[in-house]
Amino acid sequence: MSLTIGVDIGGTKVGGGLVDENGDVLATARRPTPADDQAGVIQAVKEVVDELRAGHEIEAVGIGAAGWISSDRSTVMLAPNVSWKNEPLRDKVTAVIDLPVVVENDANVAIWGEHRFGAAKAHRSSVLYTIGTGVGGGIVVKDNLLRGTHGVAAEIGHIRSVMPGGRDCGCGRNGCLEQYASGRALTRAAREGAAESPAKAAVLLKLAGGDPDAITGRQVTEAARAGDEVALAAFDSVGYYLGNSAADMVNLIDPGVILIAGGVVDAGDLLLDPIRKHYKEALANRNQVPFAEVRAAELGSKAGVIGAADLARHRDIVP
Ligand SMILES: [Zn+2]
Repeated sequence: MSLTIGVDIGGTKVGGGLVDENGDVLATARRPTPADDQAGVIQAVKEVVDELRAGHEIEAVGIGAAGWISSDRSTVMLAPNVSWKNEPLRDKVTAVIDLPVVVENDANVAIWGEHRFGAAKAHRSSVLYTIGTGVGGGIVVKDNLLRGTHGVAAEIGHIRSVMPGGRDCGCGRNGCLEQYASGRALTRAAREGAAESPAKAAVLLKLAGGDPDAITGRQVTEAARAGDEVALAAFDSVGYYLGNSAADMVNLIDPGVILIAGGVVDAGDLLLDPIRKHYKEALANRNQVPFAEVRAAELGSKAGVIGAADLARHRDIVP
């Protein structure tokens, strides 16, 4: 049996999985992500790999990390979460584990997992949005990850066509989709709505102890389930921006499916229905020309580990 390890370096934890060629996760391991400690992150990756490799023959290790990864998949050019700048992650990890290592963007490994083994496996081209604190993007075209000239393509969250000149973004520009369609944007919309129209936010305000600024993302979901008008409007706002962005992807990529992943997807149809509504409105005049369905991703938080492990397995065929 051919085994590889996939590792997902997140803002709070380094999670790893021992994965076979069918994309099945046979064992998992995790360590907390040390804040602002680059050597500590390498150590955490080493510990996760050592725990998973005990008693197994491992071919290679794939690593998914938030940030801009170089086109040769060796260097994190910029990662705001772990304050990396031009970090030679591949070589540093290789030096401590003595196995071949591939580094890839976290949303890219997630769509690769879905493309090979999850909700996009029936399609050769697909688009994935990860809706968490920010908005990540991954694109597969004709069975290849769209990586671009410098390795940094498919950053859909930083396309600013929806609101040029809008809110400042962590990427250094403004008006990016991420500022209007992330989990943080959902909470912001609910807070603003509750402050403006408290009568329409009765459930939300009750959950938050009466203080609009204390509203959390989880409370927005709970209140929307109970029919709270402001909470539902917050989901509609996020759905508006995501639906219109997804319609742009139809015009750019013509994918077979568009997937929504990330923590906010736990809200289910509360999030997916508004996305689909605005997506269909944006494409309403296509006169019977077919377009992709929008659906939830299937692999959940395992997608990154599964995708990274598979990219490591196929490391010699640059996808
Ligand atoms: Zn941005």
